[in-house]
Amino acid sequence: MASSTGFSVPQERKLVTELPGPKSRELHERRRAAVSRGAGTLADIYMDHGSGAILVDVDGNQIIDLGCGIGVTTIGHAHPEVAAAAAAQASKLTHTLFTVTPYDNYVKVAEKLAEITPGDFEKHSILVNSGAEAVENAVKIARKYTGRRVIATLDHAFHGRTNLTMAMTYRPWPERAGMGPMPGDIFSVPISYPFRDPEGMTGEEAAERTIDYIVTHIGATELAALFVEPIQGDGGVVIPAPGYFKRLSEFCTENGIVFVADEIQAGIARTGAWYSIEHHGVVPDLVTSAKGIAGGFPLAAVTGRAEIMDAVQPGGIGGTFGGNPVSTAAALAVFDIIERDGLIAEAQRVERAFVERIGDWPSRFPIVGEVRGKGAMFGVELVLPGTKKPHPEALKAIIQHAASQGVIVLDSGSWDSVLRFLPSVVISEALIDDAATVIEQKLAELSAA
Ligand SMILES: *Cc1c(COP(=O)(O)O)cnc(C)c1O
Repeated sequence: MASSTGFSVPQERKLVTELPGPKSRELHERRRAAVSRGAGTLADIYMDHGSGAILVDVDGNQIIDLGCGIGVTTIGHAHPEVAAAAAAQASKLTHTLFTVTPYDNYVKVAEKLAEITPGDFEKHSILVNSGAEAVENAVKIARKYTGRRVIATLDHAFHGRTNLTMAMTYRPWPERAGMGPMPGDIFSVPISYPFRDPEGMTGEEAAERTIDYIVTHIGATELAALFVEPIQGDGGVVIPAPGYFKRLSEFCTENGIVFVADEIQAGIARTGAWYSIEHHGVVPDLVTSAKGIAGGFPLAAVTGRAEIMDAVQPGGIGGTFGGNPVSTAAALAVFDIIERDGLIAEAQRVERAFVERIGDWPSRFPIVGEVRGKGAMFGVELVLPGTKKPHPEALKAIIQHAASQGVIVLDSGSWDSVLRFLPSVVISEALIDDAATVIEQKLAELSAA
């Protein structure tokens, strides 16, 4: 089970100081004097090293990481083979700029992306530095290809923090507020959100609601692209009902609209498939990848139908560091590790472990409205007892309690009320059990209150 490489840190939680410990607190003082407040942190625990699903802080505490730096270290922290591949590349060639003089790693990553992304047709890729940059490029490509301007996103979407992508991100606070003007021609349209939709609404019915909104607010022939997260991440691990994306993608095809799956968070083996859109049985025109693609090195991509990807004139997309030799070397190692160690199956194992361990939370704790997820991507929707009203205070209290006990968990949701787990797919059942026990202490206390 898990990685055949073993772990350099025992896979167990161990606290040797209070959290944050003295060295973390000292660093935090220095940070306050030097780092922008805008880069907020979830837990002020400063990390030193990590292995597998465990992070070790500067005070020597071993912490269970159910966040992976928002779903990045899917294969485990500081994987030795990724480190070796990056180090070897760093001492060979660190930069040429692919669009000045190219190199093989970039081509190899593009070949691999063509292989693992859904769809049996010719696919081309562009490599960039970050998720938001991938989304921006997908917008440019879709506009150039269609000759249209308008972009639609789904309610509760998260697509990034750059000027264009913050306008494609649903909630105003904290991602957008006060930082306008927003770029135009971007519309948010209703999603399928089974927990919050009318009882019994099917995926097809939710899709008709989305389509009606597009037709009446935008006009189908005005729309260049529809961006969807097949499983929303920051939006609260929202998984649209079966049939929803199938109907939407048909509508896009019928109307010449580019269907873009933003797989930056849910892609690259995290949900028990290479890409989470596979669970919906849909083949998108374009796919964005980032977060988990290079084991922690910055790399992102847009991959899709060759005729769409080639619509842009040479020089129209790209950037200095995009597809950097070291990041692409790391990505090639990640692809190898996922295949050799069967990490897609490991993500499915993590899903079974979560379902078994926390699946009964809604019946045990009145503040838990729903537990949902795929693979190593789970959300726990917190509500005021007896209602579906969001319970953001509970989320805050749970995250703080967990961090103080050495368990890192993430927030999410438009109302800040969905606890989010994005652990490494190599996490053991024992660590899931330990982390769940810590969270249950607070769930019980809050449910009793
Ligand atoms: C994180 C994320 C982005 C933005 O990626 P960055 O690398 O932070 O710019 C875009 N889309 C989704 C779905 C994400 O989860």
